[in-house]
Amino acid sequence: MSEKVDIDDLERMEALSRTLEPGPADRERMVALVAGYAESFLKELDQAPGFVLSDAPGAPLLDSPITEDGIDLGSALQLIGDNVDRPGINTASGKMLGFIPGGGLFHSALGDFLAAVSNRYSGHFFGGPGAVRMENMLVSWMANIIGYLESAGGTLLSGGSLAHLTAIVCARDSCGIQGEEVARSVVYITEHAHHSVSKALHIAGLSECVVRHVPVDGRFRMEAHSLAETVKGDKKRGLRPWLVVGSAGTTNTGSVDPLPEIGEISEQHGLWFHVDGAYGAFFILTPEGKGILEGMARSDSIIMDPHKTLFLPHGTGAVLLKDWKQLHKSFRWQSYVVQDVPERADELSPMDMSPELTRHFRGLRMWLPLKVLGVAPFRAALSEKINLARYFHEQIQKIDGFEVGPAPDLSIVIFRFIPPQGSPDAFNQRLLEAILEDGRIFVSSTRVDGNFVLRLAVGSFRTHLNDIDETLEVLEQLSGRMVG
Ligand SMILES: *Cc1c(COP(=O)(O)O)cnc(C)c1O
Repeated sequence: MSEKVDIDDLERMEALSRTLEPGPADRERMVALVAGYAESFLKELDQAPGFVLSDAPGAPLLDSPITEDGIDLGSALQLIGDNVDRPGINTASGKMLGFIPGGGLFHSALGDFLAAVSNRYSGHFFGGPGAVRMENMLVSWMANIIGYLESAGGTLLSGGSLAHLTAIVCARDSCGIQGEEVARSVVYITEHAHHSVSKALHIAGLSECVVRHVPVDGRFRMEAHSLAETVKGDKKRGLRPWLVVGSAGTTNTGSVDPLPEIGEISEQHGLWFHVDGAYGAFFILTPEGKGILEGMARSDSIIMDPHKTLFLPHGTGAVLLKDWKQLHKSFRWQSYVVQDVPERADELSPMDMSPELTRHFRGLRMWLPLKVLGVAPFRAALSEKINLARYFHEQIQKIDGFEVGPAPDLSIVIFRFIPPQGSPDAFNQRLLEAILEDGRIFVSSTRVDGNFVLRLAVGSFRTHLNDIDETLEVLEQLSGRMVG
């Protein structure tokens, strides 16, 4: 027997639970506080460092634990300002030139705000027809710029890693790679492929696949003829060549693999051709990128990250399949919980196309900037990034002691300082430490051909000529100081 509900208790609960919903005056005050905070953050961004080194970064957050009673919004903003938005890499800054920057469009912040307020469901068309149409429209737009046809489909995910996983699961299922097949199935990548590819293979239960590292040329691009030879050799050995991953811009050096040739070889040998365009694919919007990224449309699947080169805030990647039905094959599931959702709808539902069910309504943070600003400023910004990288590549060579890698395919430059004596690796590691301590700009490092090299990635919509000039100045100053 259940206990009788006490109405007084209910009223007490209601009184407290109603504080979850601020009234109009409170809302206005809160929005003003947050907008004020955002405004001062953005106003100071120009002067703000690219990196802040600190002892125990963010630790005071832990001195303010989650408790039964709350604190006022002003104090919460103070905690965020001191402990979250200060230490570490300033990813919103135009002086962030390490890893892969993007920036974080303000229009997207507004889109997120609206998506959170309305809390529209974007998992299926039945629940949120407008939200789903909006996302599918963005997917079609991306498919179109890649050069995929009508039969293509895809979905927005949290980032490139989940997009890789989704595509690789499709490739696995479509090619029937399971059981004993796994250990004789061969994957072809280069040493410059992003580690999220092997991570996705692992998660998809494919760790036992044979992985071949196809050699690269002097510009870190996959050697197509080596790919063809390796595939033929593997076939002779009784193995099953299955998947080739071509990079439309590697994270390491920005190099673009010969996609048309890889497409040709894939077709000849029945390989699944997957393109990693997480960083590079959006450069197809530029005249500079068009030629170099040719061949993306020959792939069976591709990923691209709007939170990188479409400048969205972190949390948006995309996967596209040349044939959307392959997504349904892997990810469409039946359940009583969704029995009210009609089988057939005007639009494909995101829940049938990825591991997700309930999910962030990511479409709005992408749609709002594209609609309000139009595509033209994005094209210009991406061309600007490519040309800034070329400019840096030219100018850094004029500073005594610096040597550069190949001219950039897209917007990443590798370089290092060759000291008059001693180990270049140790010197460049110390130079990087000095850059971080200095903090004006942020760059990162990688290893290429066994050498420790510095790496400049131009990717934020906020990075302009003055930021690159300042970077050159910092590098000249700090390296000069080190050689004394
Ligand atoms: C960033 C990146 C990834 C991984 O994407 P996330 O969005 O960080 O998960 C994959 N491939 C390349 C080339 C990347 O630059």
